[in-house]
Amino acid sequence: MSSARFDQLPLDPSLLGNLNDLGYTQMTEIQARALPELLAGRDVIGQAKTGSGKTATFGLALLNKLRVERFRVQGLVLCPTRELADQVARELRKLARAIHNIKILTLCGGMPFGPQLASLDHGAHIVVGTPGRIEEHVRKGKLDLSEVHTLVLDEADRMLDMGFQETVDAIVAGTPAARQSLLFSATYPDSIEALAARVLHNPVRITVESKH
Ligand code: ADP
Ligand code: MG
Repeated sequence: MSSARFDQLPLDPSLLGNLNDLGYTQMTEIQARALPELLAGRDVIGQAKTGSGKTATFGLALLNKLRVERFRVQGLVLCPTRELADQVARELRKLARAIHNIKILTLCGGMPFGPQLASLDHGAHIVVGTPGRIEEHVRKGKLDLSEVHTLVLDEADRMLDMGFQETVDAIVAGTPAARQSLLFSATYPDSIEALAARVLHNPVRITVESKH
């Protein structure tokens, strides 16, 4: 934990109240270093070990910008696996408890299409999922990304390891150029640097060294 507190951030009071209810008072180090940049609108490349609170880092930035009265997809989070997408969606729903009527939808491969199409017909504010299935919905005209203001590539190195590079590029091409983008990765091979150069604009780099 850092010594910085969430209530020092310019977050919506309903988000702050809910964080308090969840028992989140102090920020982790990645949260303390990245959230001020994210709330100022910067793109961020972040690295911090598993369990360091990266979901709330991007989640709070996304939720703070979200306009719930506008029922369009505004946040898109790409994850390498269904398990990780489900974890991210669960944490986002916790963080969003004070936002009434918010719809967070997971779209992952290996799941039947029918229910996903029905959910997409109903609409969503945030989509979390794996690249293959999301790209398929975009290609078939079922998922409109033209109002996405926040794009998150979570565990980006694992997404590239799984061969999702072209799929991620195709999805990103459907989002507005003026979006805010965040990339989290445990490692920085050249392929991640190249992906970051294509997707992020003038990013701030934040690395939290693990302590032994
Ligand atoms: P990461 O993506 O970095 O592996 P997660 O975002 O999944 O980590 O967070 C790990 C756990 O820490 C989650 O259970 C989350 O609820 C909890 N957590 C995150 N931030 C805080 C905080 N500031 N205070 C208390 N618990 C937190
Ligand atoms: Mg994570």
